[in-house]
Amino acid sequence: MFDLVIVGAGAAGVFAAYEIVRERKDLKVLMLEKGLPLDRRRCPKKGSDRMECGCKSCSIMEGFYGAGGFSDGKYNITNNFGGELHKHIGAEEAMELMWQVDAINLAMGGQDAKLYTTADNELKREALRHDLHLLDAQVRHLGTDRNLVIAQNMYDFLKDRMQIRFSTEVVGIRKEGETFSVETEKGTFQCKKLILATGRTGSKWIEQVCRSFGIRTTSNRVDIGVRVELPALLFKHITDQVYESKIVYRTKKYNDLVRTFCMNPYGEVVSENYGDIVTVNGHSYADPELHTENTNFALLVSHQFTEPFKDSNEYGASIARLSNMLGGGVLMQRFGDLVKGRRSNERRMAKCFTRPTMAATPGDLSLVLPKRQLDDIVEMIHALDKIAPGTANEDTLLYGVEVKFYNSNVAVDGRLETSVPGMFILGDCSGVTHSLSQAAASGIHVARILKGDLAAE
Ligand SMILES: Cc1cc2nc3c(=O)[nH]c(=O)nc-3n(C[C@H](O)[C@H](O)[C@H](O)COP(=O)(O)OP(=O)(O)OC[C@H]3O[C@@H](n4cnc5c(N)ncnc54)[C@H](O)[C@@H]3O)c2cc1C
Repeated sequence: MFDLVIVGAGAAGVFAAYEIVRERKDLKVLMLEKGLPLDRRRCPKKGSDRMECGCKSCSIMEGFYGAGGFSDGKYNITNNFGGELHKHIGAEEAMELMWQVDAINLAMGGQDAKLYTTADNELKREALRHDLHLLDAQVRHLGTDRNLVIAQNMYDFLKDRMQIRFSTEVVGIRKEGETFSVETEKGTFQCKKLILATGRTGSKWIEQVCRSFGIRTTSNRVDIGVRVELPALLFKHITDQVYESKIVYRTKKYNDLVRTFCMNPYGEVVSENYGDIVTVNGHSYADPELHTENTNFALLVSHQFTEPFKDSNEYGASIARLSNMLGGGVLMQRFGDLVKGRRSNERRMAKCFTRPTMAATPGDLSLVLPKRQLDDIVEMIHALDKIAPGTANEDTLLYGVEVKFYNSNVAVDGRLETSVPGMFILGDCSGVTHSLSQAAASGIHVARILKGDLAAE
């Protein structure tokens, strides 16, 4: 019998575990993780966009430190984006928790990482003059390399204070009386309190759990777009100042909101494998030796569907499937070719001055993206060209498609507890967070509550 079982070793699960065991060595805590330990997480497809890999769990998305393991490690300290934790626990507390996460990152090896801020700068004013809205945030950029050091230090801290089992997928949850039974292929574990923090890859399973316990879920949002790659020099005046700029623009044609997302100065474009589809993403290293000559960022258009349509994620997946069908993986197109209505091909790419950091198939994104999203993206690129001249150059590369799937929103209260007493659902799988700092903050929030609950028992 464990006091607490944590399912999922991503940011939410790891920070929850850290907050519990750093003070309460008397508690019996078990973490169950489907993926591999950090030092065994290797993607056999690195550098290519092929779909098949044969891995039992995806090392990019799963394993110790979850989807954040090989991420860029951008910890945005803000309630403006990255989730809606503040709506559940209050704006002040959410901010306090995100600063707490930041302090832990610094103590665990991130002390040299720079903190950038968007507040009160000239760029914001310049953007506004062109109807582009720069959202306020402070961001600590750890970089993929430093992020991995912190993850390893976190593991070293936890491993002697609790049990961590890898390659152990939880397949079912039962509750009898006050006791949870957590079922895996390797046996069943019992506990008094349960944290489910299975991230994006575990969101379908969370829906099943919710169905079986009668916990309400809702799902209606998906973001679709492309990843833009261009010479880092064009965005240097922005990225040097704020590193990651979240810029929102309302298109004149459709009144849709388009935003920049996940900006990676001197970074590389990578594929993101969901098993049956491949989408695109990006990251960058802190170590200047590993920098590329390009900056990449996503341009995303949000879709909030209304009744009766409920399967917003399937809508996004279908568009990704279409691009995979045409390109055998991720498609890539020069902006110049897109606006001229012609596909990019090997011959045109050979003359392209921007060197792609990912081996994707040259093609035609207009055959994949719905007209509305495509028009929105083209309009946004022209708008960005006003604050970063050159964005609309012929050789700006667009990779498609980038899809941000949103997990179903699970009905949880201010404690992030479900209607089943003792069962907490947090991090990205709850739909409450969509980012490292908010997922980690949700972990600390629940851990603080559980320290109190378990002490009272
Ligand atoms: C390439 C990439 C780059 C990113 N860059 C950034 C960034 O710079 N900044 C940012 O804020 N966000 C970034 N993100 C998003 C960020 O990684 C997530 O928001 C964050 O990891 C969510 O944390 P989490 O703990 O909720 O879930 P996850 O990190 O997804 O962790 C969930 C864990 O649960 C495990 N799991 C799932 N199902 C089960 C099961 N049934 N049994 C046992 N274990 C299970 C998974 O294997 C996984 O390890 C990036 C994502 C990707 C993919």
